Formats: sequence, C-alpha cells, structure tokens
Amino acid sequence: MSPHLERLKAAGYKLTKARSTILHVIEAAGGHVTSAEVLEKVAALNPSIGRASVFRTLDLLTRLVIIRPTYPGGSTTPGYVLMPGGHHHHIICMVCNRIIEFDDCGLEGMAAALEERLHVRLEGHLLEFYGRCDRCRELPLPGSEA
Ligand SMILES: [Zn+2]
Ligand SMILES: [Zn+2]
Ligand SMILES: [Zn+2]
Repeated sequence: MSPHLERLKAAGYKLTKARSTILHVIEAAGGHVTSAEVLEKVAALNPSIGRASVFRTLDLLTRLVIIRPTYPGGSTTPGYVLMPGGHHHHIICMVCNRIIEFDDCGLEGMAAALEERLHVRLEGHLLEFYGRCDRCRELPLPGSEA
C-alpha cells in the first residue's frame, strides 16, 4: 500500500474507491497535478466517481496534508503536490518558470525549535524559493528591463 493511503487509513478514513483512485492518479502523475487533470484521469479510470466526490476527496487530502495546493506559474487555478513524509520543496525560476525539486531541506531542526518555542505541533511544510535557475541566472529579472 502506498504511504499516502497508509496515512489516510491511520487518520481513521476508509479507503474508498474514490480515495484510492484519486491518490493513485496523483502518484502516477509524479506528485504534481491540476484539479482538471485529476477529474479527467479519474473519469477515464472509473466513470462512477463523480466530480463532487473528486473535489471532496481533494479537500480531505489537503486538510490531512497528504497533498497541498500550489499556484504554478502564478496561475489562479491551484495545482496540487504530494507531501511525502510531510515535505515538498521547490525552487521556482522567475524567468522561465521552471520548477526545480529538491529533497534535503534540512528543516527538521527548525521545525523542532518552532514546536518548542511556540508550543505547536507541526505535520509538514511546502517550501518555495523564488529566484533564477542555472540557465537564467545571468538574465534580468522579469520587469527589470524597463
Ligand atoms: Zn522539508
Ligand atoms: Zn530559468
Ligand atoms: Zn514539486
């Protein structure tokens, strides 16, 4: 069973056909999807799963931090990213909009310090750095050429 399905089960939720199909679709897409893609792929796999059920499931997975919304390329329609182990990290190029993924955020120490200092319990983070990628680093930032 995928670790994301395990998390859903551990949180006390039944592994319905809709939930497992939607998680499968997001995993098969490499952890990045738009809601339109999820709707389309779920409909192709199992037409008995309706739109409302897809949106309810995306909301549930978002609340459980199994996925989180992102706004790739400044788009107004959210995409979703998987949060393996509660982490997801991006470097987003402001020139070409490329997204560079990385795993080793090294933020466990900061999370532990925040839990201690602010008396909170943390479950994960979506970290986005903005800047210029290796191909664009000598180019001007958008808007600076005026
Ligand atoms: Zn991290
Ligand atoms: Zn770039
Ligand atoms: Zn990502």
